[in-house]
Amino acid sequence: MEWLPDLIKACYFLAALLFILGLKRMSSPRTARGGITWAGVGMLLAVLATLALPDIHNRGLILAAVLIGVSAAWWSGRRVAMTAMPQMVALYNGMGGGAAAAIGAVELIGYAGQSITLLDGGQFTANGASAPSGAQLALAVLGALIGAVSFSGSLIAFAKLQGWLDKRFVFPAQRVVNMLVLAAAVGLGVAIACGQLGLPLIAAFFALSLLFGLMMTLPIGGADMPVVISLYNAFTGLAVALEGFVLQNEAMIIAGTVVGAAGTLLTQLMAKAMNRSIGNVLFGSFGASGAVAQEIGGAQKPIEAADAAVMMAYAERVVIVPGYGMAVAQAQHKVWEFAQALIARGVKVKFAIHPVAGRMPGHMNVLLAEAGVPYDLIADMDDINPEFPVTDVALVIGANDVVNPLAKTDPASPIYGMPILDVSNAKQVIVIKRGKGTGFAGIENALFYADNARLLYGDGQAAAGQLVTELKALDH
Ligand code: NDP
Repeated sequence: MEWLPDLIKACYFLAALLFILGLKRMSSPRTARGGITWAGVGMLLAVLATLALPDIHNRGLILAAVLIGVSAAWWSGRRVAMTAMPQMVALYNGMGGGAAAAIGAVELIGYAGQSITLLDGGQFTANGASAPSGAQLALAVLGALIGAVSFSGSLIAFAKLQGWLDKRFVFPAQRVVNMLVLAAAVGLGVAIACGQLGLPLIAAFFALSLLFGLMMTLPIGGADMPVVISLYNAFTGLAVALEGFVLQNEAMIIAGTVVGAAGTLLTQLMAKAMNRSIGNVLFGSFGASGAVAQEIGGAQKPIEAADAAVMMAYAERVVIVPGYGMAVAQAQHKVWEFAQALIARGVKVKFAIHPVAGRMPGHMNVLLAEAGVPYDLIADMDDINPEFPVTDVALVIGANDVVNPLAKTDPASPIYGMPILDVSNAKQVIVIKRGKGTGFAGIENALFYADNARLLYGDGQAAAGQLVTELKALDH
């Protein structure tokens, strides 16, 4: 069996390759589904290779844990609504951070000279009981700190998005208190890395790290949550990579680095899409601004489906702007049916997607792809914005914050500075929504009161269905 270690290393290498190629394929909607399968096969290979490690203990328990984890993920993954996907990502991500922190904990306890009696009667001391080097200790501590913060922070993000926690939790001198908690955790971490390996010290270090994750996330509210989740995703990747160095496990190092890098890039892209710095996201309490926002004058002007259908039937260019409400109403199929009927009449139709429309990155792309909308009809914000002035009708369905002109005009608005789709520049705007509900940021939208805007009240799917019916009626 001397070949076994080489075979395991080869499997890890192949798994790492599959992770990287899978991630590459995820960058385009055409290949994303295949990319997920590739990465999944890589993960399966890595797990099987790990189970084949000669000195592994408790195989039965590990298999039982894998079985429970796979069943829970399979069950929840199949029944989760698209609208609840962000909190699911937060939860899974938190589990990854927690797992990395747990590895750190076991290693540090092992280094502390506390050999652990395993359930199968075996004894565990970290890394075969060899004395830890300073670098190993430092890596274990850093990975544990980052993993613990990601774990508790992601759980709070999950609870907030699930509606279990009040979205804003602020108190005076919060930042100072948070910094003190972080400084204490880092201080204990440095002591541990310098060889102070007492169990109480290690326990206090973990308690403070977890507490910091909680306290850092509690004040962050509203529309910043996607950026925070993405940031924790990067944290989890980094923690896994660091613990991979401690365990000298190549698959963990490569997978963690890939996740860390992808998460960091996504965080930057999303922060840019909201025109905010990461520091501002973490410490700015977006959506909790106490400033008095501009008064919006005028009234919302309703329109009937029949009139809206006529308006678009005789338009030259129509741009459809989907948002979170389209996801809630599951209206994508009806919207595409309507768009096809317009195209059949010779109308030039495009779909405009804001980078943070909906409740997760790529949310609208996924829904439109599911409905069968061809990719060449879908335009990004930067490409479509110059086209609004030559657009006859912009049809907004369930979008609110991402088309709010106050983001450009009202410095007191919590979304001031966020780039938006310049829908109000279109000649006419029709907005489908159920009533006067606000969007995720909880603020009024000046677009709905604009002179060129008409409101088609109703559930997204029902309203799109009415538009289809009215359009067909025009042909008879
Ligand atoms: P918003 O959340 O701003 O607005 C959604 C609108 O849809 C509401 O005004 C609501 O009005 C309407 N609506 C709700 N249900 C229905 C329905 N069944 N039929 C028709 N309309 C409906 O959505 P946007 O997409 O414009 O903006 C996304 C927001 O979410 C941004 O603030 C973004 O920062 C944030 N966010 C984004 C994430 C991402 O990664 N994409 C993740 C988390 C948050 P009414 O109640 O009157 O119907």
